[in-house]
Amino acid sequence: MAIETIGVVGAGQMGNGIAHVAAVSGYRVVLTDIEEEILERAMATISKNLDRQIKKGLIEPGEKDEILGRIETGTHLGDHAKAQLVVEAAVERFDIKSEIFRQLDAVCPPETILASNTSSISITKLAAVTERPERFIGMHFMNPVPVMKLVEMIRGLATSDEVYATVEAVANRMGKVPVPCNDFPGFVSNRVLMPMINEAIYAVYEGVATPEAVDEIMKLGMNHPMGPLTLADFIGLDTCLFIMRILHEGLGDPKYRPCPLLIKMVDAGRLGRKTGRGFYDYGER
Ligand code: NAD
Repeated sequence: MAIETIGVVGAGQMGNGIAHVAAVSGYRVVLTDIEEEILERAMATISKNLDRQIKKGLIEPGEKDEILGRIETGTHLGDHAKAQLVVEAAVERFDIKSEIFRQLDAVCPPETILASNTSSISITKLAAVTERPERFIGMHFMNPVPVMKLVEMIRGLATSDEVYATVEAVANRMGKVPVPCNDFPGFVSNRVLMPMINEAIYAVYEGVATPEAVDEIMKLGMNHPMGPLTLADFIGLDTCLFIMRILHEGLGDPKYRPCPLLIKMVDAGRLGRKTGRGFYDYGER
């Protein structure tokens, strides 16, 4: 099946990035969210990020308007009926995602492929709320989407080979490197990354070191480009907590217990960069 139009549900940090790379790759894009204001902010971010790519010589200045012109925005899931592939990038909550997929399943033609950018929720379980589990797949982009090469491709129990191949070709056309994995809590990326971040938070919680020292040790000692607490702030502490809970419940091992300090920070609304404060201060919004 030829993919010409890609729907993106959710215009937050991941959704606007996915819309950005899809439009740069020549796809038409339908980007939806719950409020106009969020969509306006997302288009401003895409415009700013395109300028950055122009400065780096990655795209021609003359291409910008054409790229932006390929993206239409809206607040109705029904707008995705014209897409052949819809990638959901709404908040990391099963209740919200499952309701989105129930509605997409009702409004999209039966051949439309539905994909989720979830970081940790079971693809098989999300697929099961639709009537098309064989046309359902996990397409897990990394943050920031325009920069990061990896797309973790998660096969649900029923995902067909044809759907996998079609979505793999889309990821390739976007200039990404798709890597396959099976559907287990946290997949590969977050099963390995999140326990490290959680452990770094425990180190702060138990007074082993300050956030600055933890990050410096991991950067200089392990050659990580960014310390784990800076990365946690970047991902969003609410998303980190949600993923730890999925690992804890899904794998049933106490080693995945979320650190009480992570829970406390989320309760306080200190979610990282997006709220202006997390382990570091970014100037409160
Ligand atoms: P975000 O909070 O920046 O954006 C989420 C967006 O979803 C918001 O704009 C919100 O208004 C919108 N939304 C909420 N309910 C909706 C609905 N019913 N219909 C349409 N839109 C709705 O979050 P994010 O960081 O962009 O994460 C989105 C998804 O991507 C999550 O599943 C997350 O786990 C995953 N993810 C995040 C990262 C990361 O580093 N942040 C990396 C990979 C994957």
